[in-house]
Amino acid sequence: MKISIIGGGITGLTTAIALNRKGINARVFEAAEEMNEIGAGVWLQPNAMRVLDLLGLKETILQNGAAINKMEITNQKLKPFKEIKAKTVEDEYGNRTIGIHRGLLQKLLFEEASKKSEIFLGHKLESIEAKENKSILNFEKQTIESDIILGCDGIHSNVRKTIFPKTELRNSGQICWRGIAEFELPSHLKELGKECWGNQIRFGFSEIAPGKVYWFGVAKNNGETSKLQLQDLPKFLKEFDPLISEIIKNTTSIHTGTLSDLKRLEKWSNNTTCLLGDAAHATTPNMGQGACQGIEDAYYIAELLSKNQAQLAFEQFEKLRRKKVDYVVNNSWRFGKMAHSKMGQSLMIMLMKTTPQSVLDKTMKKLYRVDF
Ligand SMILES: Cc1cc2nc3c(=O)[nH]c(=O)nc-3n(C[C@H](O)[C@H](O)[C@H](O)COP(=O)(O)OP(=O)(O)OC[C@H]3O[C@@H](n4cnc5c(N)ncnc54)[C@H](O)[C@@H]3O)c2cc1C
Repeated sequence: MKISIIGGGITGLTTAIALNRKGINARVFEAAEEMNEIGAGVWLQPNAMRVLDLLGLKETILQNGAAINKMEITNQKLKPFKEIKAKTVEDEYGNRTIGIHRGLLQKLLFEEASKKSEIFLGHKLESIEAKENKSILNFEKQTIESDIILGCDGIHSNVRKTIFPKTELRNSGQICWRGIAEFELPSHLKELGKECWGNQIRFGFSEIAPGKVYWFGVAKNNGETSKLQLQDLPKFLKEFDPLISEIIKNTTSIHTGTLSDLKRLEKWSNNTTCLLGDAAHATTPNMGQGACQGIEDAYYIAELLSKNQAQLAFEQFEKLRRKKVDYVVNNSWRFGKMAHSKMGQSLMIMLMKTTPQSVLDKTMKKLYRVDF
């Protein structure tokens, strides 16, 4: 049985590793010519860390990332409205959130996956044709036959376009800047994840390695904000604590992008092909769960494919994953809309201040528990 994974991002590589752990070999086809250590940072929340633990990768991630011991939502001057202690989360769910360089995470996953899987770089999938019970994968330079296809090719997935041609992206109307600063945080801010709110803007940061700070800023895209360059951001964020400008000034390049998600798909699979990660359910990043959900997908699909025929595995996968994924995508969308509107942001701040811990605990349970 030939399994082809299209896309060697976080979801595709984790899927290859998860299948390997079940004794199943899959080939990975990635469009990029090489695996560069590019990208900013990513927060791996306890649900993703649980899966990475089950795959034997927890120690590697801990050694290469930085544990976030407290998450704080604060005002512009870094004064918390709400804090979530990692110790409490770890006691309940076995893991805390880890901040890590995205490129480094990809490299670690690539190294692990390539121990057992063949990874073909420079292989951009163009189209898929059905031939009897098989699929023909057409790449720019080559044609390959496959029995099962796992589409892990991200929000603009070509696999998805082939099996479900009529899907739509939703533009959130928000813009995001991300960077890594070469910057030593004051000692009381190390091991903290902070998200600072004000003027309908959010700015988040955490250390991801000694002397390296991952940060992101999100604002409404009003035309003007989309033109802002790295050097304009300190002025744009002048109402925020001066530390934020310092972080930005110690950054040499940023990634800028509008935030979109994928309108809910009725189905993620057909007989031979299943979509995973952003290809199936891209979310806005407001809950920091997109990659975490891709990592969960990887574990589930490997479990199911190790016990069932593909079609049944795909059906069960949709049943098991749908509820949580919908919860993340819908709440992240709403959260973004509220957080970047004038009334909405004030309302959310008020709610955050008054939300009892029991409500927060319920939300964490929904996100962080991984049941197989
Ligand atoms: C601003 C921002 C911040 C975020 N922060 C977080 C966070 O803190 N925590 C978190 O969990 N998530 C976060 N996310 C979400 C996260 O980045 C995505 O959910 C995650 O990267 C999805 O992984 P993926 O492998 O499914 O898709 P992708 O990362 O998009 O990977 C797809 C891969 O497929 C390849 N590919 C594409 N087309 C083809 C083709 N035709 N043929 C072959 N290969 C192809 C691409 O080159 C790529 O390597 C954030 C997202 C954004 C935008």
